[in-house]
Amino acid sequence: MTIPQSFIQELLARVDVVDIVGRYVQLKKGGANFMGLCPFHGEKSPSFSVSPAKQFYHCFGCGKNGNAISFLMDHAGMGFVEAVQDLAQGVGLQVPDDDISPQERERAAAARQKQATLSDVLEKAADAYRRHLRESQRAIGYFKGRGVSGAVAKRYGLGYAPEGWRSLASVFPRYDDPLLEESGLVIVGEEGQDKRYDRFRDRVMFPIRNVKGECIGFGGRVLGDDKPKYLNSPETPVFHKGRELYGLFEARTAIREHGYALVTEGYMDVVALAQLGFPNAVATLGTACTPEHVHKLLRFTDAVVFSFDGDNAGRRAARKALDGALPHATDTRSIKFLFLPAEHDPDSFIRANGTDAFAQHVGNAVPLSRFLVESASEGCDLTTAEGRAHMASNARPLWTALPDGVLKRQLLGELAELTQLNARDLSELWNPGGGAREPARAPA
Ligand SMILES: [Zn+2]
Repeated sequence: MTIPQSFIQELLARVDVVDIVGRYVQLKKGGANFMGLCPFHGEKSPSFSVSPAKQFYHCFGCGKNGNAISFLMDHAGMGFVEAVQDLAQGVGLQVPDDDISPQERERAAAARQKQATLSDVLEKAADAYRRHLRESQRAIGYFKGRGVSGAVAKRYGLGYAPEGWRSLASVFPRYDDPLLEESGLVIVGEEGQDKRYDRFRDRVMFPIRNVKGECIGFGGRVLGDDKPKYLNSPETPVFHKGRELYGLFEARTAIREHGYALVTEGYMDVVALAQLGFPNAVATLGTACTPEHVHKLLRFTDAVVFSFDGDNAGRRAARKALDGALPHATDTRSIKFLFLPAEHDPDSFIRANGTDAFAQHVGNAVPLSRFLVESASEGCDLTTAEGRAHMASNARPLWTALPDGVLKRQLLGELAELTQLNARDLSELWNPGGGAREPARAPA
């Protein structure tokens, strides 16, 4: 997509950087400018200034500066086009693009409109769930039992979906509004319109937000031992499990402050970790970690630590996360894997061993390169030629998925040593006809 420079100028003249930054940072008027706590580095007293006259922000602490577009890119993790579109939508401008047809443009506008409508519906439900939480001693008791404070509950917008089949009927003017079904809040039975009911009933509710802070879905957990324990919104035009990470909106400042993102397995882990001093945690939503998840996360940080429960399921999840991370493991990034003792999740581990012990575990997490080698050699007897060959065949797709760079070359050396080959032979085996080889002989 090519956006003309003249449009960017017009857009920047129409938007107000104070409004845009103000969506994410609390700003106070101080003289001609607005001041706030810098969202790019941790600080206790405000050195982040936003100038309405210059339409620029500048941090006297860390030096970050820019305009409304760069703010959305750097802070909200949007791409350039996405940031421009977001701003344009806010001031009612249409982003010109010579590459797309008027029909495509119309379709895209309709899709954006639909997404905004669905988000409003979900936001309204989130409000209602929050109100219900205040009235339910059982739900409050559940969160208290997990050590969740009021402040953390508020930050994550936690709520409660009451018992009963049609609680949302009191929230929306029309319970048969198709938007309720489309947003995943209401299920319509096969028998037809009469069989409509709330998807989430008698569950504590975790609103899932996108990086802009809009509610795009929910996770719900039972209070007791009912099944299923966790229930998520279905895939909708605004919610795609394979792309979204729970808690990323809430964690993004902490991720910068702590210097890394901690990826956990569930929303309760995220909330519990925030409570226990690790507000930089996010979670996948009941799915394996995908390359898209990793890509999204890496817009906010160069360091990711995946944390897994110490059971077999955790081990399998780690293997999937490795697959998701490999294409993004460039030389400047740090991707690590943390395995907790078998009986623990992060919450129980910290409660049993303390914050420092957990921080130490994070520090000692297994680097991607080592986990790759471990995964490839799992079940292979490296004292036999057959075992080494098997390991090499396991390692090939993993190694191939890595982007070119020093890490990849080093791993080739390491894997060659383990297979008792030299690196060139291994490279030749894995890249027949390609790669850096000796000059080709004259064709036969
Ligand atoms: Zn700063």
